[in-house]
Amino acid sequence: MTIIRVALDVPLHTLFDYTVADDVVVAVGQRVLVPFGRRQMVGVVLEHAADSALDAVRLKPIVRLLDSAPLLSAAVLTLLRFCSNYYHYPLGATAMAALPTRLRSAKPLARSEAQSYTLSAAGRELEPEQIPRRKIVQRRLFAALQQEVLTLAQLRALSPSAPAALRALREAGWVEPCTAEPAAYKPSLCDAHELNAEQQHAVEAVMQSSGYGCFLLHGITGSGKTEVYMHLMYRVLQQGGQVLLLTPEINLTPQLESYFHSRFPEVETASLHSGLAEGVRAQNWLNAQSGRARIVIGTRLAVFAPLPQLALIIVDEEHDASFKQQDGLRYSARDAAIFRASQGGLPIVLGSATPSLESYHNAQSGRYRLLRLTGRAHAQAQLPEIRCIDTRNTVLKHGVSEQLLAALRQRLQRGEQSLVFINRRGYAPVLMCTACGWLSGCPCCAGKLVLHLKDRRLRCHHCGHQARVPHACPDCGNADLQPVGIGTQRVEEVLSEYLPEARILRVDRDSTRNKGTWDTMRRQIEDESVDILVGTQMLAKGHDFPKLTLVGVLNPDSALYSSDFRAPEKLYAQLSQVAGRAGRADQPGEVLIQTNFPDHPLFSALRKHDYDAYAQTQLAERELAGFPPFVHQAMLRAEGRQEAGVYGFLQQAYQEAEALAMAVEVYGVVPAALPRRASHVRAQILVQCESRKLLQQFLGEWQRKLDALPDSGLRWSLDVDPLEF
Ligand code: ADP
Ligand code: ZN
Ligand code: ZN
Repeated sequence: MTIIRVALDVPLHTLFDYTVADDVVVAVGQRVLVPFGRRQMVGVVLEHAADSALDAVRLKPIVRLLDSAPLLSAAVLTLLRFCSNYYHYPLGATAMAALPTRLRSAKPLARSEAQSYTLSAAGRELEPEQIPRRKIVQRRLFAALQQEVLTLAQLRALSPSAPAALRALREAGWVEPCTAEPAAYKPSLCDAHELNAEQQHAVEAVMQSSGYGCFLLHGITGSGKTEVYMHLMYRVLQQGGQVLLLTPEINLTPQLESYFHSRFPEVETASLHSGLAEGVRAQNWLNAQSGRARIVIGTRLAVFAPLPQLALIIVDEEHDASFKQQDGLRYSARDAAIFRASQGGLPIVLGSATPSLESYHNAQSGRYRLLRLTGRAHAQAQLPEIRCIDTRNTVLKHGVSEQLLAALRQRLQRGEQSLVFINRRGYAPVLMCTACGWLSGCPCCAGKLVLHLKDRRLRCHHCGHQARVPHACPDCGNADLQPVGIGTQRVEEVLSEYLPEARILRVDRDSTRNKGTWDTMRRQIEDESVDILVGTQMLAKGHDFPKLTLVGVLNPDSALYSSDFRAPEKLYAQLSQVAGRAGRADQPGEVLIQTNFPDHPLFSALRKHDYDAYAQTQLAERELAGFPPFVHQAMLRAEGRQEAGVYGFLQQAYQEAEALAMAVEVYGVVPAALPRRASHVRAQILVQCESRKLLQQFLGEWQRKLDALPDSGLRWSLDVDPLEF
């Protein structure tokens, strides 16, 4: 009888022991179905054990083995152990989080389409001429299959409509799936640009690194980072390696996937993100695991995908906050990727126009190698001119200045497109009573209800609470209620009033809620049936609109004096990203920022396109104030319905921390930035230390104490390297 230790998705810091009959061979990394309480659960085998702390009579046998071979490789298991230790999250739950949802259940996966194709017996009798002449694609596929066995990806490289033609050929009985391996594939890179000197240097530096190396590729939007990725991938693919590309949530669109198909037509790629149907995602994951998929593009969870021949990791927009998971296993996919590269002895490239200050600091101190792209790759493309409009002495029309309106009018006359950027959806952030000062607060949160005039509702953006817009003030009965501040809907309304001839399109989470809407909108923009775009950060990233020559930015000021010390860094990244939308082709762009603080150093640096100057001053400030990256932080958060319960728990946690008497700074119990959300009271304790190692030691000990505290009716969590305060 063999004893195995199994990871299960339960919030306990232990593995679970089961027995396996002697004639069954179980390997680490395989999934098993096991009895757990009154249910059965899927788990992953993590260890073989010599004996168990459980009595022999209480040890239960597994129900059955679910896989014939391990799903999680040794490399992935090492990564999972690291994440479990570093983020202080149970190993079982960590391991289960790494699997696509579909593979966390015991339901067998419907067999995927066979991925190689060959001619059937009937097909071999046939001459291509017997296929009707106008079925061009069918003929082309048929002729190719007469030569050799081909995969779907290789067939697609012959024509984008290959899937339909293939279906027709199969229905006719001439082509059939087969298990034979396709002929050795020869990757090619289509439309490759000849690299400029800096790009060439970057590619060579990465390719010449032997073993692990972390490279920070720093270059403004349009400087040719993507082209560097393509050339690196090409080199790695030629050597038979797999590539993992991690990208922020919002960037992973069908457009990006088809872009990869167009550059690497013969190469099997797989995407991994939450927008995929569960079955598709599991299948793509299995294709990565079997080595079929050579390029894997995914959002943060893809960092855990097993890739047997992984030879290069790229993290695009490495500064993006969406790489950090905000619940459950609160990991940073970028940091996990770096660990994975160092364990696997392979290069990793972090790319950004505005690197996170953590990465920037690491590049300065020599832990990472800095690779720079200083110009725009397109010789004729110019940087946009960035100017501030001083709103202290400007008349605003519902938040929009006369100067911006004039610039918009000019673009309209020239037939060019403009973008007005405001990071707030809805009509106005709050509704106010002009008589008594009543504000539309959320009954369940400490936040305000946002006015959505389109459907006459007040909505909480934190908890989703909704209410009809009242006809009179609930406190004093006054009927004059006024919206305060501006959101996308209000900007849209103002612009259509002042520029009635303009065709305006609003792009935010409300207007793109339905699936496919954003694709339709994108086409409208490309067809130039839109003059002015009004939108949130959805529009800031990764989309190329060649006719766009003006960007207006409304209301960026709150981030300058936010209590979150990372807010200015995020603002800089966001503004340089929107600015990058203006004038990418041969038309120079212009960016107008409405602000009360035109002389703020952030805007001065932005105007000069000088991220380095900005990063230097920010780092100097952080060092002085004792903020990351000069210290390492962790946050204990708790929330519950009873204020006394939450604060009582945190007070005890605080005392336990003090009692440990370690060289770690422990701050007092404070309310969270949003002290109440969805009727739950929220508070937290921050701890920090200059030494990451010491902080980790402390967290390990503290957690054992925390686990022993009474915590009924509340939820608490540790967040290591928190990004949100
Ligand atoms: P980034 O990823 O830094 O925003 P891209 O790689 O997308 O930049 O490059 C911006 C534009 O310049 C693209 O249209 C790309 O095709 C083009 N480009 C990139 N490298 C070169 C090069 N070496 N020569 C000419 N054009 C290039
Ligand atoms: Zn009132
Ligand atoms: Zn709310």
